[in-house]
Amino acid sequence: MDCLFCKIIAGEIPSAKVWEDEYCYAFKDIAPQAPVHVLIVPKEHISGVDCITVKNSTVVAHIFSVIPWIAAELGIRDGGYRVVSNVGENGCQSVRHLHFHILGGEKLSDRMA
Ligand code: AMP
Repeated sequence: MDCLFCKIIAGEIPSAKVWEDEYCYAFKDIAPQAPVHVLIVPKEHISGVDCITVKNSTVVAHIFSVIPWIAAELGIRDGGYRVVSNVGENGCQSVRHLHFHILGGEKLSDRMA
């Protein structure tokens, strides 16, 4: 499968890793939209939020249990942060591998995106 994030997870494309465990991988966004901007992805290829099912959703719960630890490591836990996942064309999802943006390090816009 020709998937950018699968290649990043496999180490075929370099990335700035901030977290890795058996189920997920987190790395710095190449075009940060905030002082801290990290992406967290499941190692298993799931194309997006629209492809989460009862069968594959365990990894999503895992990712959300890991996010506060990553936020702590990045020094943004106490100040607060935003977790976003864009879905499909209208959501402006540019990479069809499920990912959650973790944004923080400053007061973010009170608009949703
Ligand atoms: P989205 O537009 O929601 O699908 O988010 C995709 C994100 O992937 C964007 O914020 C891009 O800046 C980011 N991105 C694309 N290529 C890379 C890469 N090679 N390394 C890190 N982040 C990337």
